[in-house]
Amino acid sequence: MPYDECYVKSVIRTVADWPEKGVMFRDITPIFKDPKALRMVTDDFIQRYIGTDITHIASIDARGFLISSIMAYHLNLPLVLVRKKGKLPGKTIQADYALEYGTATVEMQIDAVGPGDRVLIFDDLIATGGTILAASTLIKELGASVYEAAALIDLPDLEGSTRIQDAGIPVHTLLAYE
Ligand code: AMP
Repeated sequence: MPYDECYVKSVIRTVADWPEKGVMFRDITPIFKDPKALRMVTDDFIQRYIGTDITHIASIDARGFLISSIMAYHLNLPLVLVRKKGKLPGKTIQADYALEYGTATVEMQIDAVGPGDRVLIFDDLIATGGTILAASTLIKELGASVYEAAALIDLPDLEGSTRIQDAGIPVHTLLAYE
């Protein structure tokens, strides 16, 4: 299904002042109710990564899981999870990162990736870039390298994609909201 940015943008819902005042929340849940939009988005990502030497997709809790699991299926790649603190059993490593108020922590299982692996990080949206940078810290701590960070949506005003690129990680997003 050819990607049509206007169509996908018309499906994404913006909710003002949620979950707190001042936030324009970009709600991607309507994409999953619209098979045409879901196919456009996932097909576009899949086409980009066919034939690359990516070895794993690292998928970020929780909306990142939805699209990247379809990508992993079609690309026949292992999917590993980057979860919020306290959700993963067994031995894990953690990375803290700053939120607007306070901090958050992401975790990965220590056997998720390892030396020699080339990992694509996937999330639904890049805001400040803190979540993806914390995920990349964990991936590198486990000895793997980051191939690219991909997300459906970029919020360029918050400069997260620039921060990620400044850290030496290429960024690919399908659409932006100024
Ligand atoms: P950040 O770490 O600041 O890049 O934030 C990215 C994460 O927060 C993603 O997992 C998003 O799901 C979520 N997020 C941040 N801002 C928004 C927003 N305006 N609309 C929807 N999700 C958001």
